[in-house]
Amino acid sequence: MQLQDRIENKTLRAIAEKVEQNIPVDESDARYMLATNDVLDLGTIANHIRTRLHGDTAYYGVNMNLNYTNICQLRCPLCAFSCDDGDASSYVLSLDEIEKRVSSAVASGIDEVHIVGGLHPALKLDYFEHMLRLIKKIRPDIFIVAFTAVEYEHFAKLNGLSIEDVFKRLIDAGVNALPGGGAEIFASGVREIIAPKKIPGQRWLDIMRIAHSMGLKTNATMLYNHQESMDDIVDHLFKIRQLQGETGGFKTFVPLPFHQENTQIESKSRATTGYDDIRIYATSRIVLHNVPHLKALWMYLGEKMAQVLLRFGVDDIAGTYDNEKVVHAAGAKTPDFGSERFLRRLIEEAKLVPVRTTAGYGANGGM
Ligand code: SF4
Repeated sequence: MQLQDRIENKTLRAIAEKVEQNIPVDESDARYMLATNDVLDLGTIANHIRTRLHGDTAYYGVNMNLNYTNICQLRCPLCAFSCDDGDASSYVLSLDEIEKRVSSAVASGIDEVHIVGGLHPALKLDYFEHMLRLIKKIRPDIFIVAFTAVEYEHFAKLNGLSIEDVFKRLIDAGVNALPGGGAEIFASGVREIIAPKKIPGQRWLDIMRIAHSMGLKTNATMLYNHQESMDDIVDHLFKIRQLQGETGGFKTFVPLPFHQENTQIESKSRATTGYDDIRIYATSRIVLHNVPHLKALWMYLGEKMAQVLLRFGVDDIAGTYDNEKVVHAAGAKTPDFGSERFLRRLIEEAKLVPVRTTAGYGANGGM
């Protein structure tokens, strides 16, 4: 039976026909999908693409999170994690402390270190080069996903270097891929409210284009459920799709529901519902036909929602993330450590086959 024959909703059936024929959906299709209550039909289309790309496989990682400092010059209103230098809660991890934490996580069997932090006014590039080399010395084949486009821009300015030179030096020191943070929502009006000092959306895309041209694969995120409109979401998705069409450098798209607690942003004064999350994830899977992976961070969404999304386009429920700080500062209620067994169970009970991987997806992850 063809995909469209399984869809009852007339408009979604037309979208299914496009998907079946590998015709990219357009912006009005995306608007319809972001508003529909026919989430089962929507899920059938998203799951079709997910299965075409990944069969019965679902990915997870065993990794640690390293938030090297919470001191940040930008103090974005959306951020519950950052503070000023000198605040009682401020910290910078010393290289000794980093060595201790990574060694202990490596001994427990992690494959990947995920590194992001605030824009510190005085940490020069050699701190990061030492950090990366130290981590690779502890385990040479560990996969390092490090620093958002916002941090790379900061490193370039602080050190008087081009972005290309910063990439060269940090690749040389051990960076394997980039996380997708800092994208937030590209629309400038909303960005002005939630993160006025952060690089503009266009600059984020330009830095990703440079990263891709230098052989780095990256993720891309989208923060939703704050002040954005549906058009802002559509704009964000299509900008990612367009750049992916040029570079092919995005491995994974990661929508992130906004957590408001301890931030200075009035969100839509409600948490997302299951339908909201399903619409965002399934639409992302269908619009971003050219981005191989769609990741649901169980820590942001709750483990039950992340598991359900495995049938609405998601193929990756992210990692164990030992010691995550950023989203928990904003009130995420999930435990900050999920064991490997716990993640495998979520996948297996969705009747999918768990595959342990890294942000590079390696041999098993294909794509
Ligand atoms: S979101 Fe990032 S750049 Fe903005 S204040 Fe927080 S740590 Fe700094």
